[in-house]
Amino acid sequence: MIGSRLKRVAAYVEGNSLADIGSDHAYLPIYLINEGIIQSAVAGEIVDGPYQAAVKNVQNHQLTSVISVRKGSGLEVIDDGEVDCITICGMGGPLIGEILLAGQSKLASGPRLILQSNIHAAAVRTALQRLQYKITAEDIIKDKKHIYEVIVAEKGNMNLTAAEIKFGPFLLKEQNEYFNEKWLKEYKHLQHILETIQHKADQTDKAKEIEQQLKLYREAVHF
Ligand code: SAM
Repeated sequence: MIGSRLKRVAAYVEGNSLADIGSDHAYLPIYLINEGIIQSAVAGEIVDGPYQAAVKNVQNHQLTSVISVRKGSGLEVIDDGEVDCITICGMGGPLIGEILLAGQSKLASGPRLILQSNIHAAAVRTALQRLQYKITAEDIIKDKKHIYEVIVAEKGNMNLTAAEIKFGPFLLKEQNEYFNEKWLKEYKHLQHILETIQHKADQTDKAKEIEQQLKLYREAVHF
């Protein structure tokens, strides 16, 4: 029922209980319970349609005693210490970062975080650093032509460089084929923008900023 993207996320889940924030149909908690990986879960959803879909799906699987579907924004649907693990998947990095920062009080007990962003994972790493969370693993996956990053974090301190924030400390070390595919595409895209604005007098600041970014790519990524 779940695709390879959420299966990869599931592989990093540890402990007895999970909160899946932005759970949509609650596919991930249902899978984790049915596989015996966790014992209980909270499925959080802010939008009514996906919330109702989650309620129905949990009922259809006869899992209402172990999966609590709750309507609300981000981490407001859980109490601090209620779960061992939190997953936030299928959203942009800035939104995941916002959810974590707004829900800081729910992270005091240090649940393990597994965060799968569709774009701008840098915003997730920046938020984690501010929240005194340390990245313990990263993954990069391709599912139906899209490349996604998965970030796993636990309580602790880290001090990431600009390159590590952008590319990911573990992903940067590994530099696998999907990593290279993703960043080569972005590098070429930036180069193309630079070529189109290079000679425009009103775009010199933008051009300088792009040149700096391209320099960071060349220094960090082994194309
Ligand atoms: N997590 C599932 C996955 O990875 O397949 C669903 C991803 S879906 C693209 C994103 C879901 O997050 C949507 O159902 C949306 O309603 C929900 N969402 C967005 N902002 C949210 C928030 N602040 N709190 C809870 N859910 C949110």
